[in-house]
Amino acid sequence: MSNPRQVTYFDHNATSPLHPAARQAWLDATERFIGNPSSPHRVGARADAALAGAREKLARILGCDALDLVWTSGATESANLALHHFAAALPPRAEVWLSAIEHPCVLEAARHWFKNRLLLIPATRDGVVDLGWLDRNLAKAAKRPDALVLMAANNETGVLQPWRGVLALCREREIPFFCDATQWVGKLPATGLGEIDFVSGSAHKFGGPKGVGFLKCPSKGRVRPLIHGGPQEERRRAGTENVPGVLAMVAALEVRETALCGSEPCDATGVQSEVRSRFERTLIASLPGVEIVGAKSARLWNTVSALMPDHDCPSRWVVKLDKAGFAVSTGSACASGKEEPSHVLTAMGFSAADAGRVLRFSSGWETPPEDWAALADAVLGVHRAAPRDRR
Ligand code: PLP
Repeated sequence: MSNPRQVTYFDHNATSPLHPAARQAWLDATERFIGNPSSPHRVGARADAALAGAREKLARILGCDALDLVWTSGATESANLALHHFAAALPPRAEVWLSAIEHPCVLEAARHWFKNRLLLIPATRDGVVDLGWLDRNLAKAAKRPDALVLMAANNETGVLQPWRGVLALCREREIPFFCDATQWVGKLPATGLGEIDFVSGSAHKFGGPKGVGFLKCPSKGRVRPLIHGGPQEERRRAGTENVPGVLAMVAALEVRETALCGSEPCDATGVQSEVRSRFERTLIASLPGVEIVGAKSARLWNTVSALMPDHDCPSRWVVKLDKAGFAVSTGSACASGKEEPSHVLTAMGFSAADAGRVLRFSSGWETPPEDWAALADAVLGVHRAAPRDRR
């Protein structure tokens, strides 16, 4: 597509455009806070104070102590910091239990540091981690887990996960809990997440800049750093902080939290969910064999994960919709291709063939209802044209 402005963007779970408030905050900070927050002079102190102000604001939004927050380069680094900390701080034979549907940055970091000292918590066909399985296995396990890991909302399906229930189980048993809240933060109220021991988030998923995020982690007790070479962030993450990035991230999150009116359920997300449901009903009514993944579960208001009619591979759908002016995403490559099908869908019990026909549509706060309607028309148009293409 030569002109990106002609593309209607339905891939907000991958990344979202910069919100004007974040852009302004970034520009202001770049001009006003030129110092290094660690420098001893007043120019440095002003940058440090700006960072402290942002830390206070994010702490208020999450419900934690400002000192519990570490700025990172994004959720991948945050997950690596949390899992590296577990590996370094827990006993050598410590075991981690984590859900089978985590983002690769969590799954692969866990595999890297824990090798075979991992247990995958299964998910149901509806895309929710199986809390009953967890409860039963915690009761009967010969060795209880030394840490538990569960995401807040799944990036592929949008299905919300029972993090509050897992937090309660962890509290009862004094098990440290890490929650990757990357897709939740900025789409649903963040309140309560701050009670979890370790929580990750990423600015570019909610209108902040790319390359900045956070890890909420205990300020008491030493968090074992992944990056060495400086005293920043209470020695939890070395390197000069990205002051404009952090200020822009917090500005974007404040906009989202205001839209969410601080409670759940909230009108803003109700309206968005209804528009999304209309799109799903159109697909189901018009395309034989379409299945909405996680349809029976509570889901993010912006995400549709759909198994498409199997006449075409998802990457070809993506190309055809791109030509029609719509940016969408596929969770996996063709089942017949070289890449593995989505580990999330296979963990939910879908066959490799079914997992290989999934498309993900994810809207943003600023997506108007007309765009969902136009997307539905485009999908039906591509479907109608498909038999001719295959001749
Ligand atoms: N966790 C989840 C659930 C995600 O969806 C993503 C990005 O897609 C990440 C982590 C990684 O985030 P980042 O791009 O900030 O490293």
